[in-house]
Amino acid sequence: MKKALLIVNPKAGKSKARTWLYQWIETLGRADYAVNVIMTQKPGHATDAVYKYGKEHDLVVCAGGDGTLNEAITGLLRSGAEVPVGYIPTGSTNDFASTLCLSKDPRKAVRDVVKGVKKGIDVGAFNDRYFTYVASFGIFTKASYSTPQESKNVLGHLAYILEGIKDLPTTRAEHVRIVTPEKTFEDDYIFGAIANSTSLGGVMKLDDKVVMMNDGKFELLLVKKPGNMGDLSLSINAILSQNYDTDMIEFLPIESAEIESENPLVWSIDGERADTDGHVNVKNLHCAISMMLPTAAADSSIL
Ligand SMILES: [Mg+2]
Repeated sequence: MKKALLIVNPKAGKSKARTWLYQWIETLGRADYAVNVIMTQKPGHATDAVYKYGKEHDLVVCAGGDGTLNEAITGLLRSGAEVPVGYIPTGSTNDFASTLCLSKDPRKAVRDVVKGVKKGIDVGAFNDRYFTYVASFGIFTKASYSTPQESKNVLGHLAYILEGIKDLPTTRAEHVRIVTPEKTFEDDYIFGAIANSTSLGGVMKLDDKVVMMNDGKFELLLVKKPGNMGDLSLSINAILSQNYDTDMIEFLPIESAEIESENPLVWSIDGERADTDGHVNVKNLHCAISMMLPTAAADSSIL
């Protein structure tokens, strides 16, 4: 028999695992996998478990939100093991899952894992950490990691949006210098993101004709500090409408970036808080992991 390591975050999205765990094990068993289950008990647990045990398995399946998946992939990359990853999205936001067209039905998601197509996916190195879909700073960023889990579960996407709007009157800009192989940017920005995703925090959408998950590139998006409230509205509207044809916004595909800020900058990496000393190195690790994806995703324009 093949061996699968099933990492479950029991607290993700209204504790869905309580309902579905048996089904997941049964479906994996039918596909000839002997299943080892680890229920995560604290932050970092999924990283440690996959780092230690991932290499002894033929498949790592992660059931949880984007944060749990980030942890599992981090463990796998640190261990150097080349084991394919399946993702059963049970979190409240699941941006990464939306981008990859993964089913939100936990039964179908696990079937897609066992019947899926193995595809290489780019991963971002962010100093000594990793991200699967976004590293960001500024407005909307605080909301992604400061919304309590309970609130995320109850309000879902709405929580992110409301928290973001509440932040606006007190939003401060960061003076940031971003050096990329193509171009250098330096200005006061209220938002910056380096993303490999068509969806950010349920707030922003990036065009799926532009975004590819395995093209060796991320999309850099920078929003300049507006001169007045009218400019602010224009920027927000541009973000929400995905029309970046304004001087207030920079948009560029990049392979890597060095980011320096005058002040220590708080980032969000896949929705988790990341404090930095003001120096950040981001690099696209091309096809660093393999994921088991539904054929619909494998055939889509993002792969
Ligand atoms: Mg890409």
